[in-house]
Amino acid sequence: PRPIEVLNAASADTVAARKEVKVGNAVVHWFKMDLRIRDNTALHLASDKARQTGVPLIALAPIRVDFMLRTLKVLKEDLAKLDIPLWVETVEERKRVPARIVELMTEWGANHLFANMEYEIDELRREAKLVRMCAEKGISMDVLHDACVVPPGQLTTGTGKQYAVYSPWFRAWVRHVHTNPELLELFDPPERNPESARMQYAKLFSCEIPLAPESKRLSQEDAKKFDTLWPAGEHEAMKRLARFCDEDIGGYGKHRNIPSMPGTSNLSVHFASGTLSAKTAVRTARERNNTKKLDAGNEGIQTWISEVAWRDFYKHVLVHWPYVCMNKPFKPEYSNIEWSYDKEHFDAWTRGRTGYPMVDAAMRQLQGLGWMHNRCRMVVASFISKDLLLDWRMGERFFMENLIDGDFASNNGGWGFAASVGVDPQPYFRIFNPLLQSEKFDPDGEYIRKWVPELRGVKGKAIHDPYGRGAGVQAQKAGYPRPIVDHKGARERALAAYKKGIDSG
Ligand code: FAD
Repeated sequence: PRPIEVLNAASADTVAARKEVKVGNAVVHWFKMDLRIRDNTALHLASDKARQTGVPLIALAPIRVDFMLRTLKVLKEDLAKLDIPLWVETVEERKRVPARIVELMTEWGANHLFANMEYEIDELRREAKLVRMCAEKGISMDVLHDACVVPPGQLTTGTGKQYAVYSPWFRAWVRHVHTNPELLELFDPPERNPESARMQYAKLFSCEIPLAPESKRLSQEDAKKFDTLWPAGEHEAMKRLARFCDEDIGGYGKHRNIPSMPGTSNLSVHFASGTLSAKTAVRTARERNNTKKLDAGNEGIQTWISEVAWRDFYKHVLVHWPYVCMNKPFKPEYSNIEWSYDKEHFDAWTRGRTGYPMVDAAMRQLQGLGWMHNRCRMVVASFISKDLLLDWRMGERFFMENLIDGDFASNNGGWGFAASVGVDPQPYFRIFNPLLQSEKFDPDGEYIRKWVPELRGVKGKAIHDPYGRGAGVQAQKAGYPRPIVDHKGARERALAAYKKGIDSG
């Protein structure tokens, strides 16, 4: 066995505490989208294992972009307090990750690797390869369910199939949690390592959090802005969760559809990077209710829990129908729609210059915050796939490239819903009217005025449709574009294209 290099073996204490590290003498937790120490299934088991065998725990993480890097800094500090080093490494080629992990495990003399499971198909393939490679080297690997409250595969219909409709699935989800209350039991963070691994693993403790790859690096100005807007780390997640549950959750049912109000939790970024576990969220919300039932008591709490459950639902879907990870619509009969690939329309949509104020406000909110309100996500996704008849996958990808909370399953599910090609979707013939959506959910135009400065001076209801409601001259003067399509005509075109595609499918 190759001993680990000891860099700070200076003091007598250190030398006394030093042991030679042999193969099998360490446990590794591989951090993926689970960047927290609280209620982390695999980390919990890894630390148990480390305690049983009296060996230190080493943490390994793949690198993501700004928010993830800031989160890693917090995680590194938290882990250091527990005497667990965090090793962060940029691996140029994704497919090299398993081999690199095995190399590091061998170098560190570690024989047990823990990780939480990611359900996307490439990630599952990567895990399968790693399990094989580990086995060849005599390293055991545990891959745990952690991302959902109810792990995929637990809920089936009366005939043993996976649910493809949310409402009965949600009823089954609630029943399952009620009958398996341990699903909401939380794991404590790992305990401080009594062996004090600092001495043997000094090199690992000195690992710096690297910069983002150049193509993903933010300008200094943006880095500062997003740092203020979205403070990173699990402590922030816990603070935000507590504040939301104390102050806003009761009104969630009433306010969640009004984009000008701060009525939702803004926790998606934390769910997506794993700084908050779904279990912790549901349990904390339930503690504010006057019942242990998830489908009873305060209406706001019930509604919020059912939204968090959507996240589980879409992960279950991609486990059962993995072709949704391969650019395929959930409904195969929707594969033959002839989409437009009009570049000018796509550009107008991405820049918030479609001439539909609600759509433009939403797209500019995305540019400004890296986040968009759920109602608006549905409106802009419907607009691009139906009014513009652009391939929904272009929008899905653009969202992933721009959202701070980009999550493959939820994003794919949301796009499938709005474009009517997904699981339990909006029926294709129900096409949102962006002007009516605007009047209904932003009645005073507050959201539009916030995000579309050209329209700030437009008074009254004309804000929803300036060119159609007598504020055209004013809008034009301010440089706001005319609508790039006429909704009525676009609606007819979409209905015909969907019908033709389905009939030929
Ligand atoms: P809250 O309303 O406070 O909800 C709490 C949590 O429940 C959210 O943080 C989220 O984890 C979950 N949740 C709520 N609604 C949904 C939903 N419809 N589907 C799945 N989970 C949900 N969510 C993402 O996390 N990442 C995405 O990439 C993403 N892309 C989307 C794309 C489209 C086209 C649509 C229509 C929705 C998308 N969503 C996505 C779902 C939803 O819009 C966001 O989760 C929500 O707006 C985040 O804000 P919040 O944390 O304040 O949510």
